[in-house]
Amino acid sequence: MSVKAVRGFSDILPSEIWRWRLLEERAREVLDGFGFSEMRIPILERMELFSRSIGEETDIVEKEMYTFADRNGDLITLRPEATASMARAYIEHKMYAFDPVAKLYFIGPMFRYERPQKGRYRQFHQIDVEVFGISQPMIDAEVMAILMHYLSTLGVNGCELQINSLGCPRCRLPYKEDLRTFLRDHSLQLCPDCRRRMEKNPLRAFDCKAQGCQEVMTDAPLVEDYLCRECADHFAGVKAYLESMDVPYRVNPRMVRGLDYYTRTTFEVIAEGLGAQNAVAAGGRYDHLIEELGGPGVPGIGFAIGMERLILLLPDQAHFYGPSLFIAALGEEAQREAFALSYRFNLAGVRSMIDYEGRSLKAQMRRANKFRARYVLIIGEDELRTGKAILRDMEKSKQQEVPFPSVFKEVISRLKGGSV
Ligand code: ATP
Ligand code: MG
Repeated sequence: MSVKAVRGFSDILPSEIWRWRLLEERAREVLDGFGFSEMRIPILERMELFSRSIGEETDIVEKEMYTFADRNGDLITLRPEATASMARAYIEHKMYAFDPVAKLYFIGPMFRYERPQKGRYRQFHQIDVEVFGISQPMIDAEVMAILMHYLSTLGVNGCELQINSLGCPRCRLPYKEDLRTFLRDHSLQLCPDCRRRMEKNPLRAFDCKAQGCQEVMTDAPLVEDYLCRECADHFAGVKAYLESMDVPYRVNPRMVRGLDYYTRTTFEVIAEGLGAQNAVAAGGRYDHLIEELGGPGVPGIGFAIGMERLILLLPDQAHFYGPSLFIAALGEEAQREAFALSYRFNLAGVRSMIDYEGRSLKAQMRRANKFRARYVLIIGEDELRTGKAILRDMEKSKQQEVPFPSVFKEVISRLKGGSV
């Protein structure tokens, strides 16, 4: 039996790769333009980095992490998200010593042991954006504006930005207490998971998909009624700055996000047409994370975009990355000519292709068609004798003779402006 890929882990095939490149290239363009710097983090971290930051009572840490002991017996985890690693790196390299403000991003795979389905995989990819060192609501609005701008440059419309504030530990304490009391009063209608978690992490009942829990939660107390003065002002500021940039949003007072480190602003981008896995990006503020991980008292805010889900939203455009030039040659001498010429084109960065197998001219033209070559250069015995090749424009179905010495310049100049 042949060996297959591990469940939930996918190959990205050449026919798909242009979508990934588009997402990555556009992300770098937009983020570089907004003053962000790319960095790269390791695939593995010590397990406690995630259990300490994301929180023990969360889906990720409870059941989704790929954790194993390495040969030394140290527990290590395949990163399930990037924020904790980015914060660790910021602390470890004392990036704050130069300036507390760091605007960073990272693109790469994440790993979570979940049930694979549409929009949910065990290896998936994120574009992760983090800003350390700014507490003002301006930056909350700015990162959301950048996210929405990025989506629109990809032609992805029909997304809704939903925002909420979870307050700070000070206002969340009495809120959690009241929510716990409420949940205890309705515990018979709750699913076993929520009943088990309600003492330690009552907020998670908002995320539960069980029908009974959802019914109960429609009447649950909301965090917006508990925000302290500073948190309420911060949230008002975020909304005002979003409005000043004409970024549409909707307040969703039931969005709580599944990670422990969030404080104040949280947000999600919900897309139409993704089915149950409809959050294409999510993030929030984490004002105590850096300190809790042993760094200075520096606030932070960030988000992550799910690339697989974003790809499902890309407008469907035919895209085939075929060769710019196919050199069809007949006869041994012509083939040698084609080989040398094609190499010269490749050195100049032109996607040029030849047939190595000495097939008939007809078969070579069929291949040029199959691979959707933009131009075909035909070199047969006649052409060798007259010192001219035939250059065929496959899009326009027009051809002309070009003397050998001018072939290289002619093809390059025709491709110039278009993609080579
Ligand atoms: P969900 O509620 O869908 O499980 P989440 O709250 O666990 O999402 P985050 O940790 O906030 O997700 O990650 C940010 C984004 O990464 C999500 O909005 C989603 O687009 C994407 N994402 C998360 N988990 C997966 C996965 N298993 N497969 C594919 N994409 C994912
Ligand atoms: Mg999840």
